[in-house]
Amino acid sequence: MKLCKFEHGGKTHYGVLRDDSIVAYAEISGDPWQLTIGERIPTIELGWVRVLPPVTPSKIVCIGRNYKEHAQELGNEVPPEPLIFLKATSALIAHEEQIRRPSISDRVDHEGELGVIIARTCRKLRADEDVRPYIFGYTCVNDVTARDLQKKDGQWSRAKSFDTFCPVGPVIETELDPWSGIKVETRVNGEVKQSGSTKDLWFPIDRLLRHITECMTLYPGDVIATGTPAGVGPLRKGDVVEVSVQGVGTLRNPVVDD
Ligand code: ZN
Repeated sequence: MKLCKFEHGGKTHYGVLRDDSIVAYAEISGDPWQLTIGERIPTIELGWVRVLPPVTPSKIVCIGRNYKEHAQELGNEVPPEPLIFLKATSALIAHEEQIRRPSISDRVDHEGELGVIIARTCRKLRADEDVRPYIFGYTCVNDVTARDLQKKDGQWSRAKSFDTFCPVGPVIETELDPWSGIKVETRVNGEVKQSGSTKDLWFPIDRLLRHITECMTLYPGDVIATGTPAGVGPLRKGDVVEVSVQGVGTLRNPVVDD
């Protein structure tokens, strides 16, 4: 099932998406993992509503250098254990919202990634524990990065956390199996820049969740960005960047200068 969060008629709803149309919806009385879908309503085309980020996470946890070719393109090796960092939740934006390039950076890059949405509170996952019940679904994430500031600062909080640097959505797909290998593709103005498969994740999703929850508790709605394939590159004013995750959909955002 593909769930999207949207604003329509002055109210916020979750809807079920089929063929780019919303065919059922429920007013929000909680979170999507507790949601009961409301009465069927006349179809609304997705283009007629304002899509919102699908969740309001307590944190956005990202994984660095989790595809070998991407680690190497920036002169790094894959790390011996998952490399985690946080992105500010204030950076979150929705499908079709503008990514704003800060004037203090000369190099703002796209990083298209598979996003994991957490379903249940999750801490210190055991080695033999199945991680799937803790996952609500999957989405598209663009881990936008001020590459020059990332190098300059040595640690990544600022470079990863400018306002608008975390487009997420447009939907959560609850029935995906990324363990089998799904395509993660990023296009700028229609041209393919990054193309990878989740079968090439250096550390698979279960290892990532075990590693993260060894340190911090994950809550329902938290977002894990699983790392980006090779091909990262700059975004310029006027560009339109799209992140497609096979079986999920396409997250599209125009780029402007702040
Ligand atoms: Zn990333």
